[in-house]
Order: sequence, then structure tokens, then C-alpha cells
Amino acid sequence: MKILLVEDSATLRHAMSQYITDAGHTPLLAESGEAALQLLEDTPVDMIIMDVEMPGLNGFETTALIREWLGSHWIPIIFVTGMSDDDDYRQGIEAGGDDYLIKPVSKMIINAKIRAMERISRMRDQLNKLNAELETLSQLDSLTQLLNRRTFNEYAHKQWLLAGRQSTHTCVLMLDVDHFKLYNDHYGHPAGDDCLVQVANAIKSCLKRPYDLLGRYGGEEFIVLLPDTDCNGATRVGESIRKTVARLAVPHEASTTSKHVTVSIGGASCSQTNGYSLEDVIKTADRALYRAKHSGRDCFEIDEMTAHRTAIVAYPDAEIQQQVCQVLRPRYNLITADNTDEALELSLNIRPDIIVLSPAMTDAKGRTLTERLAQAPRTQATPLLFVLSDDSIFDTPPGTASLSLPSELQQLPAMASRLIDGE
Ligand code: GH3
Ligand code: MG
Ligand code: MG
Ligand code: MG
Repeated sequence: MKILLVEDSATLRHAMSQYITDAGHTPLLAESGEAALQLLEDTPVDMIIMDVEMPGLNGFETTALIREWLGSHWIPIIFVTGMSDDDDYRQGIEAGGDDYLIKPVSKMIINAKIRAMERISRMRDQLNKLNAELETLSQLDSLTQLLNRRTFNEYAHKQWLLAGRQSTHTCVLMLDVDHFKLYNDHYGHPAGDDCLVQVANAIKSCLKRPYDLLGRYGGEEFIVLLPDTDCNGATRVGESIRKTVARLAVPHEASTTSKHVTVSIGGASCSQTNGYSLEDVIKTADRALYRAKHSGRDCFEIDEMTAHRTAIVAYPDAEIQQQVCQVLRPRYNLITADNTDEALELSLNIRPDIIVLSPAMTDAKGRTLTERLAQAPRTQATPLLFVLSDDSIFDTPPGTASLSLPSELQQLPAMASRLIDGE
């Protein structure tokens, strides 16, 4: 063991370092608390023997700093001191010491203490190792050694947050073995287990990037998260998984889809995370999987989730505002305003993709919202869609569009999209 000896007296340092060497260990010497801290920065040690009374940082202060610096990594620290009242003892233990020796310390006592601490140290190492094993056990599915559902979700959420910060595409694939109940019925459950392991390995072999995540989501269902991957990339991965599983050529006599085991795959591609949750993406992939099952199995379906657009609906009449919101809600993040000043402020701050408004909206000075939007550089180019009541007459300004309620209500979402896309 490497034992750090912190002692300001040269005589004691010399004597104790000899004891340590004689006990078969390597002494490292520091003549002050400060020197000890510096040494620990780049030299790992297995145990520390610490004098208490030293100029500068005393032994208690040094120990408290070392405990803070090491965090959860525990090493034994033994104080050696001339002070001997109970309160010193309490202080030493509170500062993070593990034992307390009163000077003068004999060679035999030092030796015994080192051995006792060594034993505790070994037990600590074993415990850490067991804990690490337990952790991997509970993170992995025991049959396939893939991430279990809980761990997959945990890691996937981290990737999702990262994708949000970096504005990158994310794709999710849901995979389900076709006619697996029939497989079990025909070949038996243990053979079913073997089959799942083979499918899991086949899927794994198709994922080439270090950050791709693969988990066992349920019985014969697997899930893949592909960070920084667009719809085309996900389609390539999905198709390659489907073909790789088919190429395993695991016989499946009971299947009505193929002579071999096959998988159906549903994917969801999300270009931006804003407006969607990871759960939304997984749900979309699940729906695509359902379609894949219903279009004959052994196939791949993917849905592209476009980012929600933002629309400001500026209308003084609450009833009409509600009707407009109802038809736009499935495709837009909606923000409502019922007066001109509010609508203008929101438009300047939020920069919506479109403003759906009443031509009759004016501010206190009688200026229309349209005029005020046209004056502000930030809102000049925002697409405007005017909503009129059926009997009103309105001269639609160039570059904008208008429609009448209630007859044209259902055309509103399509018209808004065309206006935003400049068609
Ligand atoms: P489909 O093509 O529509 O997916 O049909 P299916 O039979 O695969 O669908 P279903 O979800 O009805 O059946 C899944 C079967 O997977 C039922 C269950 O017994 C089996 N299963 C789930 N987990 C395991 C497992 O760990 N080992 C084995 N051997 N079978 C499992
Ligand atoms: Mg001293
Ligand atoms: Mg299933
Ligand atoms: Mg199935």
C-alpha cells in the first residue's frame, strides 16, 4: 500500500516512515497539510497517517479538505497526536478521521493499525465491486443483455435533452417479432428465448454509432433511439434490421408471413424536439408499427413528425377565436390575443409563423393591427391570414390571404400552410 505520512516534525517523520517501510508498505512524506493536499492532486494513496498539530493547516482541517476532495472515494485516515482529551477525539472523528493514536506510538501499534485498516479497505473494494455488478445487472435485461426498459428510458431522455439543445433530428424505431406467440406454441418457450437472443444480436449488429441506444421494451418488443439521424438514415437502419433478422433464417413453420422469423418495424422521425416530448415520438413509432403489422408484417413504416408551427390568433370576438383555434390546434402551437396592443407585443416577441387576425382590430388611436405589424421590421414579413364574417367586404392586401366564416372554416389550416410555405 501507498501510505501518506503527514507530519511536521522531521524526527517523527523519519521514524514513522521507517515503521511503514518495515511493515512492507511504501511511505509518501508530506511536512504540512498544504503539502499533503498538493501531493494528493496527482498521486493516489491507499491510506493516510496524519499529525494533528502542524503550522498552517492542522490535521483536522486538512482531513476535512481531503474528504471533500475525494468525495465518495473512501481511504482510511488515522490521526497521530499528542493531544489526548475526549474533545480532541470527537473533533478528529468529525473531521473525517477513522482512528486516533496518541503519541508516542510504538512500531507494533502502527503495524496493527495499518493491518486493520487494510482489512477494511479490502472489504470496501469488494463491496464496490459487488455494487457495480448489481448496477449492471439491474440496468440490463437478463435474457438479451440489452438495456432494460427503465434504463433505456433514462438514457433516451438524456439524449432527447441533448438533441433539444443541439437542434438535431432524432428517430425512434419500435420492433416487434411477428407471430411470436405461435413460435412459442410450436417450438416451446426455451426455444422462444433463444430466438429472442438471436433477434436482439441481429438488431445490435445493425447499429453502428456509439450513441445509438437499443433496449428490450417488453416481451418480444425492442426499441431503438437514433440520435442525430434523419428520416432517410432511420429508414436505412430500419430496413437493414428487417433484412438482417430475415437473413438469420430462423425457421418458423407456424408463421403465416414467412418460413422464417421476421420482425415488423415502426419508426418516427422528429426534426426538432420543441413542441414534442420523447413520449410523443415513441407513440408515433408505435402507431407506425401498428400500420406495419396491418400491411402484412415483415415490413418497415416510418412517420415524419414535423415541428409544430406557432400561430397567433388575434380576434376580439371570443366565439370566433375559439372556432379558429379548434381547427388549427392539431397542427399549431396557438397563442391568442384579443386586442391590438397585446397581439403586437406577442408578435414582436414570439415571432409566430403566421398571424390569423380580424381586419377590424384597431388600437386606441384607431390604427389597425395590420398597419402596425407592417411598420415593425420584425413583423413586416410575417404571413397574415384575415378571417372575415361572411357578409363583410374586405380588400385583402397583397401578399396576404383571407377567408370567410363560417363557410370556409375547414379550409383554414390548409390555407395557413400554403401561406407559410409561400405557395
Ligand atoms: P404479432 O405478429 O401480431 O406481433 O403476433 P405475436 O404473436 O408476436 O403477438 P403477441 O403480442 O400476441 O405475442 C407475443 C408473445 O411473445 C406472447 C408471449 O408469450 C411471448 N413472449 C413475451 N416475452 C417472452 C419471452 O421472454 N420469452 C418467450 N419465449 N416468449 C415471450
Ligand atoms: Mg506536529
Ligand atoms: Mg408484441
Ligand atoms: Mg409480436
